[in-house]
Amino acid sequence: MKAAVVTTFGAPLELLDLPIPTPGAGEVLVRVRASGVCHTDLHAARGDWPDKPALPIIPGHEAVGEVVEIGERVTSVAVGDRVGVPWLHRACGNCEACLSGWETLCPQQQRSGYDVAGGFAEYVVADAAYVAHIPHGIDFLHAAPLICAGLTVYKGLRMVDAKPGDWVVVSGIGGLGHLAVQYAAAMGFQVIATDIDETKLDLAASLGATMTINAKKVDPAGYIHRQIGGAHGALVTAVSTAAFGQALGMMRPGGTVVLNGVPPGSFSVNIYDLVMRAITMRGSIVGTRHDLSRALALAAQRNIRPTVHPADLSSINAILEKMANWPMPGRVVLEFP
Ligand code: NAD
Ligand code: ZN
Ligand code: ZN
Repeated sequence: MKAAVVTTFGAPLELLDLPIPTPGAGEVLVRVRASGVCHTDLHAARGDWPDKPALPIIPGHEAVGEVVEIGERVTSVAVGDRVGVPWLHRACGNCEACLSGWETLCPQQQRSGYDVAGGFAEYVVADAAYVAHIPHGIDFLHAAPLICAGLTVYKGLRMVDAKPGDWVVVSGIGGLGHLAVQYAAAMGFQVIATDIDETKLDLAASLGATMTINAKKVDPAGYIHRQIGGAHGALVTAVSTAAFGQALGMMRPGGTVVLNGVPPGSFSVNIYDLVMRAITMRGSIVGTRHDLSRALALAAQRNIRPTVHPADLSSINAILEKMANWPMPGRVVLEFP
C-alpha cells in the first residue's frame, strides 16, 4: 500500500510502498477513502511538541473508509461498515480517567498517527471499539474532517459552558475554526470569528458568524468590549501564542476561554485580571467516543459540513509546506480513489 511516512523531524515525508497490515484480535482493517490533514500532523512531522512521536510514523487521524477485514472477537463492526479512525486509537478502559468518562486523558492511550500508524495510507488498522460509524448522508470527503476537527470543536464548545444566545468567540478560522463556527451556531450561540486572514473571515461570515474581526488590523479584545461589553466565552484554535492572551482579554466577567490550538510555546496571564474578573481558562483535547457520536449526529442533523480541498497523497509535502506558511480556508482532505 502507498503511505506517507515521517522518518526525520522537519524533513519531507517519504512516500513508501508498505505491506498492507493485518488486523489483530479486536481490530479492523480499514480501506481509507479520505483522510483529512490536521495542523497536528504538521506538529507531529516537525516534532513540535515535548512528547514526540517515535519514528518512523505514518501521520493522519481523520481517516474514513470501509472496513475490509475484521480480526478475532470483533462484534461491533462488520465488513463494509463506513467508519472513521480517530486520534484516540485506544485507551486502557480501566483507569480512573477511562472509568469517569475522560478516556481522552488515559495515561496509557495510543494515538493514531502519533503512537500507532495513522491514515496517510491506503489502509489503516484500528481498534474496533474506538472507530466511529459515519452517519448516512455524509460522504467520505466531508466526513473525514469531522473525525478530529469536528469532534474537537464540538467538545471544546461544550467546555465553554455557554448558553444559547451567549456571545462566543472562535479564534482561528482554519480547519477546526470553520467547523467551530457552524457547531457554535447550531448550539444557539452568537458567533464572533477572529483570524488574521480576510478570506477566512469571509468564510466564517458565510457559515454563520455575526461579527468578524481581523486581529491583524484591530485589537480584537478592545473591539469586542466596545461593541458588546465582552464575550461570554471563547474557543481558541489559532496556531499563534498571541491569540491566547487576546482571548482572555475578550471576556466579560465570568467568561470561559477554552484552549484547543497547540502552538509550541507559552503566553503570559495577568493574575489580577483573571482573579478579579473570575475568568476560567481550560484546555480541551479531542473528545471521547461518546462526544464523537454526538458530533457526527449533530453534523448530520444540522447539515454541518467542512469546506474541503481534495488532494492526492503524493502532494502531502506541498500541502504541509503550505499549511506552515499561509492559511488555507477549510480543510485539505487526501482522497484515495
Ligand atoms: P489550521 O492551520 O487549519 O488553522 C489555524 C488558523 O489559525 C488559521 O486560519 C490561521 O490564519 C489562524 N491564526 C493564526 N494566527 C492567528 C491569530 N493571531 N489570531 C487568530 N487566528 C490566527 O489548523 P487546524 O488544523 O485548525 O489546527 C489548529 C490547532 O489546533 C493546531 O495547533 C492543532 O495542533 C490543534 N489541534 C488541537 C486539537 C485538540 O484536541 N486540542 C485537535 C486538533 C488540532
Ligand atoms: Zn487533528
Ligand atoms: Zn485508561
